[in-house]
This record gives sequence, structure tokens and C-alpha cells, in this order.
Amino acid sequence: MKAVFFEEHGSADVLQYDEFPDPEVGPEEVLVEVKAGGLNHLDVWTRKGMPSPEELPHVSGSDGAGIVSEVGDRVTRWEEGDRVVVDPNLYCGHCEFCRKGEESMCVDYKMIGEHVRGVHSELAAVHEDNLLEVPEGVDLVTVAAAPLVFMTAWRMLITRAEIQQDDSVLVHGASGGVGHAAVQIAANEGCEVWATASSDEKLEHARDCGADHLIDYEEEDFAKAVKSDTDGRGVDVVVEHVGEATWDGSLSAAARGGRIVTCGATSGISPETNIPKVFWKQLDILGSTMATPGEVDAVMAKVFDGTFEPYVRAVLPMSETPRAHEMLESREGFGSVVVVPDDDYDPDAYA
Ligand SMILES: [Zn+2]
Repeated sequence: MKAVFFEEHGSADVLQYDEFPDPEVGPEEVLVEVKAGGLNHLDVWTRKGMPSPEELPHVSGSDGAGIVSEVGDRVTRWEEGDRVVVDPNLYCGHCEFCRKGEESMCVDYKMIGEHVRGVHSELAAVHEDNLLEVPEGVDLVTVAAAPLVFMTAWRMLITRAEIQQDDSVLVHGASGGVGHAAVQIAANEGCEVWATASSDEKLEHARDCGADHLIDYEEEDFAKAVKSDTDGRGVDVVVEHVGEATWDGSLSAAARGGRIVTCGATSGISPETNIPKVFWKQLDILGSTMATPGEVDAVMAKVFDGTFEPYVRAVLPMSETPRAHEMLESREGFGSVVVVPDDDYDPDAYA
């Protein structure tokens, strides 16, 4: 079979799309004929070796959807022909955090595509518990773009920040995967949503996702804009995944008693923190990463029923995965990039 893989870390040109050994299907695993794979910034970090997967060569990809083509001896829930999407969370199931239902805090937490072999390949062997059934009529290309970003945004907002109706929420980078998911989730809960992005076109997409207030962060200071819109009060919740470039502004944009929830730091991991802003305003700073199986089920049900819509900015053949990484790294376009196996690629189908 063919797979997207790399033998060494580096720039996008280390990515190959070539023959790779077929996966072996364990007794509790399902062989999936992959029809689409969603790209995430995580794929870029893993390619760069931050972190390094357990072994090289490494097959990329945490998000994927396809059709079941074979099942292991002990698999009970799936049969050939089922339409499935991958839940990339791997956890031990027996540590103190797993036993509390906090699987994303597992002491042995791993992700498909990050620590272990990914699914951007013609065939992928996945544990039966790491699959969700995709209802008939739901497009596999669209659904492949959803799990990682929607589950991340769902846990940030619903579980960690505990957003309530009428909360004011600022979402940074609303044109990215997590950002555009966060705008939709906050709007769906009845929050008033501020979205930042770097062009009018991206901001119009953010409006389509449910944002009430649009801020072009290259044209204006987002914290001042938020304060101005709220008569100096600030917002109840800030969705942070940018880091150094926005951290101080996020502390300023939060209202007294506000919550900053962070899942990443794409612009840099060590910003200065003005501590008086934290204690004087009595801010809560909340970390969040990935999601529990229950959270994955909850948010994917709303993707399947159309409440949430993953935006796909481009569909490319898997052989053009280097180009997909460049699009993510340059923040080109709005939403996710999806790759499909070259033999299945029909350019007219994704216009
Ligand atoms: Zn565990």
C-alpha cells in the first residue's frame, strides 16, 4: 500500500508518499480503507520532531475516515463495509486519571499519528475502540477534518471553561482548525463571540461560523478592540492557542473573574506574564489538551447531525502532503486541509 511517511525530521520535503508495508491487523483491531485524512498543526510538529514519534519511518496523520475492510478475531462492534472515523486518543485505561474518567490526563497518554503510526495511508489498522460510526449521508472528507480540532475546542470551552449562555468569548485565530471549531461551539451555546483573523475574507468565514464581532488583528490591537466593544469590561472567556504573540493581550482582554483557556502556543511557548493582571483581575488560567471518549462522542454527534461544520479549505492528493503542511504553516486560507489517497483523488469532486 501507499502511505505518507518520513524517515527523518525536517522541513516539508522530508514527507514521502510511497510504498509502505501493509499494517498487521491485531485481534482487537480493524483494518480501515482510508478515504480521507485531516491535517493538523500536530502533523507539522511531529514532522519537525517536536515530539519525536516512537519509531522512524513514521506514518503521518491523526485524523482519518474510511471504510472497514477487515476485522480482527476479537472485534465485535464492526464489520466489513462500515463507515468510520478515527478517534486518535490512546490511553491506558487503568491509571488513576483514566479510572476517574479523565483519559486525556492519562500518565501514558498517546496519540495516533503523533507517538505511534498514523492513518494517512491507503490502509490503517486501528483499535476497535478508536473508531466512531459515520452515519450514511455524512461526507467522509468533511468528517475527516473534524475529530482533533472539534474535540480540543469542545473540552476547552464546555469542560474546562464551562461556558454558559450569554458569556462573552474571544477566540484567537478563528481561521484555524481549533479556532473555527471554538467559534461554532461558543455560538451554539448562546455566547457572544469575538473572533480574530488576519483578513476580511477569513473574518467573513468566522461570521458564517457564528462570530458576532470581527477583529483583524493585523489592523487593530485586539485587546483594545474587545475593551472598547465592552465598555472597558473585557470578555468572560479567552480561547488561547497562539501563545507569545497574544498572551499579554489575552490577559488584558479578559474581564475580572475571566477564564483564559489554552491548548497551545504556536507563536512561542514562553511569553512574559504580568502577574498583577492575573491576581488583580482574579483570572483563572486553564490548561486543556485533547479530550475524553465521552467528549469525542458528544462533539462528533453534533458534527454528524450538522450542528457543527468542519470547513475544508483544500482537498489534495496524499502525494501533495508537503503542500498541505505549507498551507498550515503559512496560515493560508480558512479551516482544515484534507488529503485523500492519490488513486481515489478526483479534483472535480472537491470544487
Ligand atoms: Zn491512563
